[in-house]
Amino acid sequence: MSYDVTNVFARILRGEIPCDKVYEDEFALAFRDIHPVAPVHVLVVPKGEFVTLDEFAAGADPSVVVGFWRAFARVIDLLGVERGGYRTIVNTGPDGGQEVPHLHFHVVAGAPLGRMVSRAVRP
Ligand code: AMP
Repeated sequence: MSYDVTNVFARILRGEIPCDKVYEDEFALAFRDIHPVAPVHVLVVPKGEFVTLDEFAAGADPSVVVGFWRAFARVIDLLGVERGGYRTIVNTGPDGGQEVPHLHFHVVAGAPLGRMVSRAVRP
């Protein structure tokens, strides 16, 4: 999928738009979602120009993949959500409900989160 350099997360990564930063290193930026759906709702964003998780998994340099997951672990530690638990969501494409075309990992936590997918979704 071609990458749109004007997407909102690209603009946040370039510092053109502010964010409520939780963590940043050379591999990832994590910031609070502007419309939180739980007491904790943070987006962990790899810095590379990837739209989807499958593109990242297939195409990113191994050092970038490892660097990203280390950053992810650091974010979880900083948020202090290991004990209570958390949910990680990666929305992909139209059916996945992806709004922003730059790969990002939602981390939601801080309360029981209920079912993984709405009961309205039937096989
Ligand atoms: P998705 O549907 O997975 O693409 O989710 C995109 C998420 O980005 C939504 O939860 C939005 O609330 C969030 N979002 C959009 N713009 C911003 C922004 N400027 N700062 C923080 N979160 C944002």
